[in-house]
Amino acid sequence: MEHLFSAWQGIGERIKTARQILLLTDFDGTLSPIVGRPGEAALPEDTRRAVEALVSHERVGVAVVSGRALSDIRNRVGIRGVTYAGNHGIEIEGPWLKFVYPPAESLRPVIRRLHSSLSEVLAGFEGALVEDKGITLTVHYRLVREDRVDELKRICEETVSRLRSEGKIRTTEGKKVYEIRPGVLWDKEDAIVLLMSGWISSTGGNASLAIFLGDDLTDEGGFKVVNTHEGVSIYVGEPGRTTAAHYFLRSPTEVAEFLQRLIQALGAPPT
Ligand SMILES: [Mg+2]
Repeated sequence: MEHLFSAWQGIGERIKTARQILLLTDFDGTLSPIVGRPGEAALPEDTRRAVEALVSHERVGVAVVSGRALSDIRNRVGIRGVTYAGNHGIEIEGPWLKFVYPPAESLRPVIRRLHSSLSEVLAGFEGALVEDKGITLTVHYRLVREDRVDELKRICEETVSRLRSEGKIRTTEGKKVYEIRPGVLWDKEDAIVLLMSGWISSTGGNASLAIFLGDDLTDEGGFKVVNTHEGVSIYVGEPGRTTAAHYFLRSPTEVAEFLQRLIQALGAPPT
């Protein structure tokens, strides 16, 4: 895995010559630094200006693909013209695509009931937060004492195990989060496939260069999809982790710098 800026000459050239560019990006830990309380995560100001410049560029489409609820990610980024994919891509809304994965929609009542049971069993855990995201839910434990995390996970497992063995839900783990999703096989990578094909048809079938940035395990499938289409896959974090991404950037700060370089390569005035 190579640092993106070491490979910049070649990539900058591909950006210059591409007819269309589709920039796909995760939010938490990628555009925005990870914070203790998920409600406090915000888009840094220079990143915001860069995304605004990119989305208004005639050769560029921008989609933010997040595990957050659609309404949450849309409000938190709040830039017109950006396509938002929430709940790991189960819900998508934007200028060239509007979509809800139907089997997930029908499992909404199951998720709602599980939200009540988990809130009840975890009520005594200081720092634990059970977030209702409509179609999915997330247990945040970043603020839970280190020596109580195993117990918290055990309680989560006990609470969900029956529904999971019935196939109604599935669970995934991310950075200090335990996520419960409807038992459907629809992930960020499926959303990315859909976003890419939608973008290609909305731009008249022109070949597009796809770029995807992400920082977590749930982003790995997206790296693979983009690699298959000869795009640019970028892992955000320190190198050393096993990842399908071809390039890395160390932090959301470096992501902001990458966006500036992208704007310059496109020939738009810097923000
Ligand atoms: Mg992330």
